[in-house]
Amino acid sequence: MKLVTSLLAAAAIGVASFAFPAFAQDKGTVGISMPTKTSTRWISDGETMEKLFKEAGYTADLQFADDDIPNQLAQIENMVTKGAKVLVIGAIDGTTLSDILAKAHEAGVKVIAYDRLIRDSGNVDYYATFDNFQVGVLQATTLVNGLKLDGATEPKNVELFGGSPDDNNAFFFYDGAMSVLQPLIDAKKIVVKSGQVGMEQVGTLRWDGAVAQARMENLLSSTYTDAKVDGVLSPYDGLSIGIISALKGVGYGSGDMPMPIVTGQDAELPSVKSIMAGEQYSTIFKDTRELAKVTVGMVDAVISGKEPQINDTKTYDNGVKVVPAYLLKPVAVDKTNAKDVLVGAGYYTAEQIDN
Ligand code: BGC
Repeated sequence: MKLVTSLLAAAAIGVASFAFPAFAQDKGTVGISMPTKTSTRWISDGETMEKLFKEAGYTADLQFADDDIPNQLAQIENMVTKGAKVLVIGAIDGTTLSDILAKAHEAGVKVIAYDRLIRDSGNVDYYATFDNFQVGVLQATTLVNGLKLDGATEPKNVELFGGSPDDNNAFFFYDGAMSVLQPLIDAKKIVVKSGQVGMEQVGTLRWDGAVAQARMENLLSSTYTDAKVDGVLSPYDGLSIGIISALKGVGYGSGDMPMPIVTGQDAELPSVKSIMAGEQYSTIFKDTRELAKVTVGMVDAVISGKEPQINDTKTYDNGVKVVPAYLLKPVAVDKTNAKDVLVGAGYYTAEQIDN
């Protein structure tokens, strides 16, 4: 009996010492819940974090929720059950996570809202994102530059598109853009000819490009049969592609119908190519690799019991608390600086942009 016990003990020690290096390396599991794969940015966000977490000694559990809310809830629940220490969540609908986050909190799991604020929950510890209001300011600023209002004798016709109303960011983008556009609308330098303004009227559920295309087609047939569109505020490249396709469908971009000034966001490759080809006018570059880096740093600090680096403690009230945030700087990109900025940052190669 004694012999058996000591043999078992020896075996246990053997196993423990054999396993020790792996334990020493493994700082625990981080669940990464990304909203969708339909936009390349989220794939790159997820994959960059997965890589950085692994390098920092964590196990990363990366899941994409296909823009399906029940799917995201189930994936997060599963992460909590499997013992994740921290959750990094890019929410589909920022208001749907309260129950699952309450469970996560009971299990001692920390939560970082990634890019999109999680609303209506006290169980959100930190928020890593870009300066979302500034994104909107930059979008509208490029639109105004492109419209060349200075020399204009007539008001310019502009239509407005907003992002998904279940994404807190969409309101920040819209409000930021309107902080630039509203004074010009008031001064009658810009006219929203359809009269459709405000997120209730211009929002685009789930950031769906097909929905934006259909709305643009409707606007063209309802409002622009005997007038021309000069500009379109689009908050995201995936919508811009749909909008441009609707515009091309009725002849814009050829003959005496120049392509209106169309904005965007994310510097997705098809849109950057469209910018270089003179179709889409601008986009906003948000270096998702930097956001991933900041987030991994936050998680590492949280797990080591340190204060993560924060640079904003007043902007992001989620309805229950003001979530301490780190905001990165967005950069406006158009044909004149696209190569410098995007190739310079190593985000794309010159060949990718040219072909
Ligand atoms: C992100 C944008 C993105 C949009 C659609 C927003 O929450 O901040 O970068 O364009 O979602 O995916």
